[in-house]
Amino acid sequence: MKKLFSLLMCGILMLCFTSCTPENNTENEKIQIVTTIFPLYDFARQVGGERAQVTLLLPSGAEAHSYEPSPQDVIKIKESDLFIHLGMDADPWTDAIIRSKDTKPKNVLSAMEYVELLGDEHSHDHSSQMALYDQHIWTSIENAEEIAEAIKDALCRIDAPNAQYYEKRAEGYGDKLSLLDEKFENLTENHQGSTIVFADRFAFRYFTEEYKLNHFAAFPGCSSESEPSARTVSQLIDMVKKEKIPVVFYTETSNQKLADTVCEETGAQKLLLHSCHTVTKEQLEGGITYTDLMESNYEALKKAL
Ligand SMILES: [Zn+2]
Repeated sequence: MKKLFSLLMCGILMLCFTSCTPENNTENEKIQIVTTIFPLYDFARQVGGERAQVTLLLPSGAEAHSYEPSPQDVIKIKESDLFIHLGMDADPWTDAIIRSKDTKPKNVLSAMEYVELLGDEHSHDHSSQMALYDQHIWTSIENAEEIAEAIKDALCRIDAPNAQYYEKRAEGYGDKLSLLDEKFENLTENHQGSTIVFADRFAFRYFTEEYKLNHFAAFPGCSSESEPSARTVSQLIDMVKKEKIPVVFYTETSNQKLADTVCEETGAQKLLLHSCHTVTKEQLEGGITYTDLMESNYEALKKAL
């Protein structure tokens, strides 16, 4: 009943802002948000501001696909006010936790429910974790806007007395994301159909679709393969030579060996296109954000087009 009540509260808050009294949130107590991966962590932090204590569950370098939660992780999820994950089979290890009566958190936000999903390219992959949809939804800035909006709605519901605070923060962050998206639109509008090359796994399906770019990648999707076949190597080299591709991309989880080989053979420049999957411990401590990473992606893409 309390939940139902705060749900109603959120809707009528704008009308009766001053007369509403805090219901399930004591003064100065921060909303506890637990998130799985870095982009969700950053979106929650941007929208929650000082009213939220946001925890990033996956350590630097860890993959949402194959993560094994620790008992402490389960406790953190259970005790949170809001747990944010990708959902839709992207993080199967969360299923049991959010379904069990003993561990389920008060509120769950599944980010993949808020964006238009694209199919997964893993069709050849025989691993047990074959997903129906590509999970790298955050590589599209428009999707980032949708997710931030969904987080704002959840916070307004959970912490209704402070709805105006979240509304304002979400608006500011949404503007920032829109500007960034516009910058990419301007950069790519005369390059539609251009091919960008990854000597790496491919996590940018939503990104390339948004800006109408083609891609050529050593490994489809976020496959766990890391050793390229001789055929893959020669295909990449031929492609870069033939199309006079100036830049070969790698992503943050790569050992860069394949990119090095292709660049040595072709004279192309090796650059990082950050998939924002995971950041290093130093970057995390330094307070790096999704928009910081996307700004450097912008510079890298500029050189590639
Ligand atoms: Zn991935």
